[in-house]
Amino acid sequence: MKILFATSNAGKVNEIKNAVDSSRIEIIPQDFSPVEETATTFVENALLKARHAAEKSVLPVLADDSGLVVDALHGQPGIFSSRYAGDECNPKKNIEKLLRELELKKVPDEKRNAYFYCVLVYLKYADDPTPIICEGIWHGKILFAPQGEESFGYDPIFYVPEKNCSAAELPLTIKNQLSHRGQAIQQWMKKINESTFR
Ligand code: IMP
Repeated sequence: MKILFATSNAGKVNEIKNAVDSSRIEIIPQDFSPVEETATTFVENALLKARHAAEKSVLPVLADDSGLVVDALHGQPGIFSSRYAGDECNPKKNIEKLLRELELKKVPDEKRNAYFYCVLVYLKYADDPTPIICEGIWHGKILFAPQGEESFGYDPIFYVPEKNCSAAELPLTIKNQLSHRGQAIQQWMKKINESTFR
């Protein structure tokens, strides 16, 4: 079965391809411009992305909206994770801004709790009245400096207590077993298997 994955983020595509049963599900990355994320919650933005992609494709669509929520920054960067550093943002600048904000506030190690959140929305077609919605949360802490090269986004500064390393230092399969996105993908696969793809 072919499913359009409504993202142009190569890191997300890599993770989802690694997590699904490729003998049954073929993930097709989106090759058109993304919709503007105008909503104020992850789930609303995921619905926007999914509906936009489903309007442009005959395939069923899966959309991911995700981000990093930092307690000491009152939930920032949150839904703005990918664009935290502004117009010229990129993962390096986003990380630099986050570390700067925590440094300005002199946030000590014990107050650097944070979590990654992911919501997946699956639509069979654009006006599907019963979307499948799955979510995952991954708790950790923000490091004082980046560690590791693997993966994408904020992984190099996200400390994973159970593995005593950053998310960027984890092999992809281990990240998928623990992560917000990995949890949401597992739930989604269970649901579509139960409903035999509905
Ligand atoms: P979105 O495309 O609006 O959902 O933005 C998601 C952003 O959240 C990404 O561009 C990253 O900055 C961040 N993010 C989400 N999931 C992860 C992850 O697993 N590792 C690192 N950063 C992530």
